[in-house]
Amino acid sequence: MKTLRSYVGGQWREARAGFAPLHDPCTEEVIAQASSDGVDFGAALEHAREVGGPALRALTFAERGELLLAASKALHACRDELIELSLRNSGTTRKDAKFDLDGATGTLSFYAYLGKELGDRRYLVDGEGVALGRSARFYGQHLLLPLTGAAVHINAFNFPAWGFAEKAACAWLAGVPVITKPATSTALVTERCIEILVEAKLLPAGALALIVGSTGDLLSRLGPQDAFGFTGSADTALRLRGLPNLLAKSVRVNIEADSLNAAVLGPDVSPGSETCNLFLREVEREMTQKTGQKCTAVRRVFIPKERMDEVQAALIERLSAVVTGNPADSSVTMGPLATAQQLADGVAGIARLAGDARIVHGSGLRADGVGATPGRGYFLAPTLLRADDAESTQNVHSHEVFGPVATLLPYDGSAAVAARLCARAEGTLVTSVYSDDDSWAASFVVDGGPWAGRIYLGSEKMAEQALGSGVALPQSLHGGPGRAGGGEELGGKHGLSLYLRRVALQGSRAMVGKLAD
Ligand code: NAP
Repeated sequence: MKTLRSYVGGQWREARAGFAPLHDPCTEEVIAQASSDGVDFGAALEHAREVGGPALRALTFAERGELLLAASKALHACRDELIELSLRNSGTTRKDAKFDLDGATGTLSFYAYLGKELGDRRYLVDGEGVALGRSARFYGQHLLLPLTGAAVHINAFNFPAWGFAEKAACAWLAGVPVITKPATSTALVTERCIEILVEAKLLPAGALALIVGSTGDLLSRLGPQDAFGFTGSADTALRLRGLPNLLAKSVRVNIEADSLNAAVLGPDVSPGSETCNLFLREVEREMTQKTGQKCTAVRRVFIPKERMDEVQAALIERLSAVVTGNPADSSVTMGPLATAQQLADGVAGIARLAGDARIVHGSGLRADGVGATPGRGYFLAPTLLRADDAESTQNVHSHEVFGPVATLLPYDGSAAVAARLCARAEGTLVTSVYSDDDSWAASFVVDGGPWAGRIYLGSEKMAEQALGSGVALPQSLHGGPGRAGGGEELGGKHGLSLYLRRVALQGSRAMVGKLAD
């Protein structure tokens, strides 16, 4: 059995005790084990701060961009091998594994090109300078300087490659070294990604460290020049964001957490239209891609009340075509949940939703998977629920079931009511609305926008090029208010903000101007 290793202080370290198992979710076989027992977290942090940080800060944005491009290419060169690991450890279909891996290399490559655009600078100039005195001789200008500490990244199990890479791309481009910790259950892919980058010797010493297993006392060692990026459940986020040390030292923290994302069908969209087909296609995909284990997956589907039966029937027809099982079988289109715990939580979560809504497709229980040994594997077929009163369904608005599960909810067709109902989840990563009526969409955006990190406007005009509401593109902000964590990642240059400190310069125009040149 493989034992995963941490990479700290420029060395690979294999633990001797404290192991947690990693499973093949199709067979439940233990395929690897991971532990960070024996890692000196203080030394790991010092190495990143003292060796990796100065080396990265000595490079220009363009040079850091070259590192990112090389990293993207190195991972892409091992794509097939990484896909195989992903199939084994996450049980995903090949298509879902590619989604994770191509997301990783695509985001690294996007930030590589941004580095090229930012050019031969080591820090950024923020906005325009401004006269501060009676004349322009006394002058002010903001600069954005890289933090001199390290970035600690903790990621969720569902994107073992993309989760690591999207955070690392932003930190490295800003000039900050990375200590990354994947979720233990799917760490096989992340560990191999780090191995590939280390073997390729692309990054300066100290720019990258990996912790498999627990982070020990690492978080309590973070200081004012470090940053902490977390992706995972709201419960874990709540525990970690309040660590006394993070509060006392004003450590920069970014949280990406749960989200009860919504899809809203506009009242103008007629059955059979291109926009209606886009809506149905995307709701089905968002429910089933990666077995619904996506932070951006659609959980609540709002439909004009007179259309409930027709939309329900159309979605059930699509969901009925999904084949749940072991992706090794070529007929399978959706894999298992990642872990036994995820399956138990999924089943319990559906039972909770069923207190407010009724199941109209699927059983909400574990099923045997096609191509899998009966009784084995963490399989849950797509499950659609329906509630006939969207107002009184508190669980549907507050409980995230992290699987192929969504609930249909009626509304009266008004944008204001749809926005208010979407807001019942107290913050989403993405809300998608499907309408060809510009003024209806504009009303929704004004009322619903403050409650969403991203609003995806599905319409006939973009249908042909639509990538899907669940894709976190590096050009656009990823993160959401309230229960979604309140964080901001990606979004082009905004993605560097966590790692750059804004400093206001005040001085002579000549001196300030030179620094901002
Ligand atoms: P999780 O149980 O909260 O774990 C997330 C990460 O936190 C894992 O790496 C876990 O490590 C680590 N962790 C747990 N307790 C910790 C502690 N006391 N100290 C340090 N690290 C700790 O979440 P998950 O089950 O992996 O992921 C599913 C959740 O993530 C869902 O709720 C989903 O909505 C959310 N998610 C959000 C986004 C987003 O961008 N907003 C993206 C993906 C997923 P171990 O595995 O070693 O326990």
